[in-house]
Amino acid sequence: MSQVLYNTLSGKKEKFIPLKEGEVKLYLCGPTVYDLLHIGNFRGPIVFNVIRNWLEFTGNKVNMVYNYTDVDDKIIQKANTEGVETKVISERYIKEFEKDFNALGLKKHTHNPRVSEHMDDIISMIEKIIINGKGYVVDGEVFFAIDEFKAYGALSKKKLDELEIGQRVEVDTRKKNPQDFVLWKPAKEGEPYWDSPWGKGRPGWHIECSAMVKSILGDSIDIHGGGVDLQFPHHENEIAQSEACNCAKYCNYWVHNEFINFGAEKMSKSLGNIITARNFMEKYNPEILKYLFLSAHYRTQMGITDDKLSQTISALNRIYSAIELAQITVDQVDAPAIADAGFDKKLVEFDNKIKKSLNDDFNTAEMISFIFEGVRTFNAIGFANKAKRTPSHKGQSESFLAWMAKYGDMSALFNSNPKDMLNRLDEILIEMKEIDKSEVEKLVKMRNDARDAKDWGMADEIRDKLQDIGVELFDGHARGWRVKVND
Ligand SMILES: [Zn+2]
Repeated sequence: MSQVLYNTLSGKKEKFIPLKEGEVKLYLCGPTVYDLLHIGNFRGPIVFNVIRNWLEFTGNKVNMVYNYTDVDDKIIQKANTEGVETKVISERYIKEFEKDFNALGLKKHTHNPRVSEHMDDIISMIEKIIINGKGYVVDGEVFFAIDEFKAYGALSKKKLDELEIGQRVEVDTRKKNPQDFVLWKPAKEGEPYWDSPWGKGRPGWHIECSAMVKSILGDSIDIHGGGVDLQFPHHENEIAQSEACNCAKYCNYWVHNEFINFGAEKMSKSLGNIITARNFMEKYNPEILKYLFLSAHYRTQMGITDDKLSQTISALNRIYSAIELAQITVDQVDAPAIADAGFDKKLVEFDNKIKKSLNDDFNTAEMISFIFEGVRTFNAIGFANKAKRTPSHKGQSESFLAWMAKYGDMSALFNSNPKDMLNRLDEILIEMKEIDKSEVEKLVKMRNDARDAKDWGMADEIRDKLQDIGVELFDGHARGWRVKVND
């Protein structure tokens, strides 16, 4: 069973064959570091974390690069507003990004280069493009001559003449073709600059990724990733620059993840203006963000609705309850575990299904649903009576925990302490469902008093009332109650 992935360049699913067997060169376009990142900006890192882990799990060594764009107009603008150097801004937001990245528990990339560290690579690349006849200099500015690069438009499926018709902005008459793009531009007053053969200036945006790829991974790579919005012009221009410089195919497989759709009408109201990953993770939880993103295929657009949030919380609640049950069972049964071949066989069946899903264009949505099947199968064993748990229950629990840990590592999920996570999910539900805690506490106390007075009718009545509010009595919680989780 081999790996298949959807290649934007060919517009179809293809068998994945790395340049060198057992090694994968993977580049993912990173953020411009001038502010906290949007939750949508993390869809790429979360999805590619699984892609990378899966490629490693199936026997490849993956060299993964995710860059920081630390030279950019938005950074300069913010630096000017605050009256500080651009480096102060970019380093501040790299640190903030890393905080979010670590909170998400994603695996550290092999390299996180900064554009400012690769200025020599950028300049020598532009020099080569000029020597190869595909770049030209006008007044200290260097342009890429797209007429000299016949394959231009192959990735985004845009034709050059269509581009010209669509052109509405004022045409820079110094350009040979209005679509020629900037490789190097002269520095304006007060902007950071670097010395170059064309005078003091800084690179255009697109050349940075081409130069970092070449310097760290080489002339040709296996997979280049990014959001769909980067297909044109950014990735189209990367191909043109790199192939014009290196005279070699730049990248074999282009993998683009879709948007998080914030325009969706049903977008969660409770989300309000919360769109930074930081705020989302504080109000909800990193686990919820990861589960939400991975429960959809990376090539589908998704909105975040209240329904999806509650479904995610219910799903996580079930999964963590099963993990907690398994841990308790392992601790509780003193005798050595006895493996249950039937149960283990079922887990292997799910393994095979998950393998098929991930091999088919990294279908994490299916992976999640099979993990859920595994949880259901575990729950179906029946652990009702604590006193009657057996060495076989212990064996099943151990198998289940190892199985969950495997997919937990793959997807950066299910690694939290179950008790803490279940409490956290309960707190989130209390807030989402606007449940009045003090009112509930009062009812619970009244019910306890009724029971003490042996007034069973009253006790039942109060229990029903709690049900209506969306609360159920639960011995496993120190508080004695929790929010009822939807099925
Ligand atoms: Zn890029």
